[in-house]
Amino acid sequence: MPEPTHKRTPLANTTKRLTRDDSFRFACGPHVPCFTECCGKLELILTPYDVLRLKTRLGLSSGDFIDEYTTMRMRTAHGFPDLVMRMDHEAGKRCPFVTAGGCSVYEDRPGACRIYPLGRASTRHPLHGGRSEFYFVVREDHCKGFEQPKEWLVSEWLEDQGMEDYNRMNDLLMELYVHRTRGRSVALGQQHVQMFIMACYNTERFRSFIFESPFLRKFHLDLTLVESIRVDDAKLLEFAFQWLKFALFQEPTLKVRGADATPNGLRPPPEQ
Ligand code: SF4
Ligand code: SF4
Repeated sequence: MPEPTHKRTPLANTTKRLTRDDSFRFACGPHVPCFTECCGKLELILTPYDVLRLKTRLGLSSGDFIDEYTTMRMRTAHGFPDLVMRMDHEAGKRCPFVTAGGCSVYEDRPGACRIYPLGRASTRHPLHGGRSEFYFVVREDHCKGFEQPKEWLVSEWLEDQGMEDYNRMNDLLMELYVHRTRGRSVALGQQHVQMFIMACYNTERFRSFIFESPFLRKFHLDLTLVESIRVDDAKLLEFAFQWLKFALFQEPTLKVRGADATPNGLRPPPEQ
């Protein structure tokens, strides 16, 4: 099978670094001659927050969304599985959500679709914990958006595209990836991989794991937090990243009630 002609990925590769105060020239919309050309023959990696937004938009369970629209790739540079949007082969390998009028899930489109033509790299300082970031322009040959006269500040583009929540969630995900690639972790076995998939990509199953297992008897969790993760999927995902740091890397992100409740004693139930 030929490779996709271009990639959209939340992970950075760098050209010239831009700050939020730098500018670039770009415009996209039905007026450009290449409108929706970039929504095909595409490798589109979906982050956990992308999946959450899309499955909610479509009124699907996480499992149904993943089965219908994604392929899981197990071999990745960061060591965790990636979910990749499954292109519609009968429609010329186009994204399943592209229409003649544009993106049919526009308000909930993935972060990589929003931020294009920019990419973002973000790191947390290992000592003081402060976060730094930079941006870069991803110039694809077929994209005529760069010929348009409109100038943007990077900060204006991020706001216009609604990137704030996506960046925040992706930073939390990156912290797990960095743990793994720094080699401070235990080797990830099948069970760890299943824990990652459940917590990051399967809202319903992770919520059941918390509320229908001894989980809440084993951890001290603030009551406000418990009530928020019961009803709020985004809060649940933030908690998932916190739990994974504890369960996979033994980071003290959660407070355990009993001496026996070690990460190894707090496994999720096997998948049905
Ligand atoms: S190729 Fe560029 S200008 Fe054309 S639709 Fe895609 S992002 Fe917009
Ligand atoms: S999700 Fe929307 S913007 Fe992204 S590739 Fe698909 S149709 Fe295009």
